Amino acid sequence: MKKNSRNPAKEDLGEFLDIASEVIVSPHGVMQELTGYSFVIGKSPSEERTNRDPPSEMSKDREIIPIDEYLGLYEPNKMKITIFNKGLRRASEILGCNIEHLGMIVRCHEWAHAIIHVGVTDDERLQASQSDEGWQKILHKHTEIYAGIDDRLHEVFAQLLTYYALQGKEERCTRQVSKNTLDRIIKLFFNLNKHQPTEYRINNLTEISRDRFMKSIDLVKRGNLRLSYGAWETITTW
Ligand SMILES: [Zn+2]
Repeated sequence: MKKNSRNPAKEDLGEFLDIASEVIVSPHGVMQELTGYSFVIGKSPSEERTNRDPPSEMSKDREIIPIDEYLGLYEPNKMKITIFNKGLRRASEILGCNIEHLGMIVRCHEWAHAIIHVGVTDDERLQASQSDEGWQKILHKHTEIYAGIDDRLHEVFAQLLTYYALQGKEERCTRQVSKNTLDRIIKLFFNLNKHQPTEYRINNLTEISRDRFMKSIDLVKRGNLRLSYGAWETITTW
């Protein structure tokens, strides 16, 4: 073999890994990055992918596909995310999409609920890592705030965080092939959104600036203001 001969298999693998790193979203990491809140090490929510039947079904006419309880689920009392293979499979057939692309959207959605629940500030993280009592206090406070958010606002937060996560990833792509894949996933996100119950619909809420949206999350997470969806919409879209 010549000294500087090409090794196509190795080059292909390198390229594949580059593309994969541009395309694959790590929902756990991206939610921390987006919001500026972090999960406490050792107290992060868990994630399971299961072949069990999801707790809910889609509508009989297969027009409405809910995310929570059908494709995925976040249970705040257990700090647990579950992703349902059966739901993903059926929904991907209806939507005519790649099951893993759909899975990525659903994982982002559930990790968005998780960061809204147990994402903490730097000070709180320090406090939580010092003693179990410190962690319990912080968990209790955040669980109360989480329980006070209305359903519509919960879903809008999860949907917009998912959208910003995908959009941010797309903006950072350096390769056309990765960009095309992310574009497809974003299109799928909007297509899925059309098939969802009203509380998940984000319509023109993507026009809110990312900055203003993140500030509204701060307001809610810091517990200074108990916002209904209506009040949130008024202050973010004026
Ligand atoms: Zn949700």
